[in-house]
Amino acid sequence: MKSKFIDAVKQSVKSLFYPQKIDETKISKHAIEIIKVLKKNNYEAYIVGGAIRDILMNKNPKDFDIATDATPEQIKLLFRRSRIIGRRFKLVHVMDGRGIIEVSTFRAKPHNKEVMRNGVTKDNEYGTLKEDAERRDFTCNSIYYNPLTKVLIDLYGGVKDIRAKKLAMIGDPKKRFDEDSVRILRAIRFSAKLNLTIDKNILEAIESKKSQLQSIPYSRLFDEIMKLFLTGHALQSFDLFKRFNLSKYYFPSFESKNPKAQSFLLKGLSDTDDRVRANKSVNPGFLLAVFLWSDVKKLWEERNKTSINTTVALHDAIDLVLAKQSKVFPIQKRVGVTMSEIWRLQPRFSKLHPKRIYRLLGHPRFRAAYDFMLLRDHHEEIEFGLGKWWTNFIVADEHTKSILVKNIKLK
Ligand code: ATP
Ligand code: MG
Repeated sequence: MKSKFIDAVKQSVKSLFYPQKIDETKISKHAIEIIKVLKKNNYEAYIVGGAIRDILMNKNPKDFDIATDATPEQIKLLFRRSRIIGRRFKLVHVMDGRGIIEVSTFRAKPHNKEVMRNGVTKDNEYGTLKEDAERRDFTCNSIYYNPLTKVLIDLYGGVKDIRAKKLAMIGDPKKRFDEDSVRILRAIRFSAKLNLTIDKNILEAIESKKSQLQSIPYSRLFDEIMKLFLTGHALQSFDLFKRFNLSKYYFPSFESKNPKAQSFLLKGLSDTDDRVRANKSVNPGFLLAVFLWSDVKKLWEERNKTSINTTVALHDAIDLVLAKQSKVFPIQKRVGVTMSEIWRLQPRFSKLHPKRIYRLLGHPRFRAAYDFMLLRDHHEEIEFGLGKWWTNFIVADEHTKSILVKNIKLK
């Protein structure tokens, strides 16, 4: 009864201050079902984080996070298809045919700081909604919404900041960056993705804390970099990287003064953004191959002057660039293999011999290497007309393919 009354008061406060409605059609049915089950079992539960932020900005959320006062074990008992995951903090993945929803228990800031081997503070102390809201990173990420009661809880003015298109930190940015330096990259990512202006005190904190970027554990760094550049706002992320002088930490090649190298990068990034918008797949190996191509190309050209064999020269250049890069931003083996393959296949596009053409077409990495070749073609790095020839060849039926091959004037 009491909680119904509180809910009603909250509801009226909400409609007073937030006449802007949450677009219910954007909320996942699965998330609503989970909240219903939790409520039925007398737990508090809200959708929180990116989903509510994105809905308020009229975007379609890509995933839904639920926060509740039930513990992971209690949550697990309620959902047959669920499992507890996480070391840094435990949370529950609840599955259904449509995907996974993350359900986590309200958390408090850790009282006794327990720093784990990877430098991250252990974060497993449960708390109240108020405490949970305080430990989130930005005001826009700390808005809680209950789709059953329509109550919206916004303790840090996130809605106001979203309206003002402002990215503001909860608490002192310097302290929050000391607790977790990934937040520096998150600030840049949200500003790029949502076109938010970064608060002045965050800007100052980025300047003074950016050297900590070097201590981010690799697994978290890789994920964050991929989110920066593979989720549709790569160009904006690139601009911010340059503005804050962050390239030197991860991608020294961004700093190249060569206009062709810059143009190659920018085209690669805008093509990636186009692919994301068109719902096409994007590949970390392809992206990193674009990032480092100017280095490979430069070395390849240098080596070509002394090497008798251009393929050997290219392979040497690739090995050297990957070895150098792995010191600043280690690249997973799997991703490194993809990058090497894309690069190594490049000279083969110029060898228009019938047998070789079909062999290249059948290579498992053909498509990525072809896209990469088109980027090079765009920058006049290869023989005029070669890109067009391959494009015609790929789309042609078998008969036309054979005519195209027959008509090649072998040099
Ligand atoms: P998106 O999913 O669009 O990348 P998001 O805000 O949902 O954005 P997640 O990484 O999914 O980001 O995290 C969900 C929520 O958890 C965030 O909105 C934020 O409230 C909180 N959160 C995530 N990472 C951190 C962090 N490093 N520090 C503080 N809070 C965080
Ligand atoms: Mg999210």
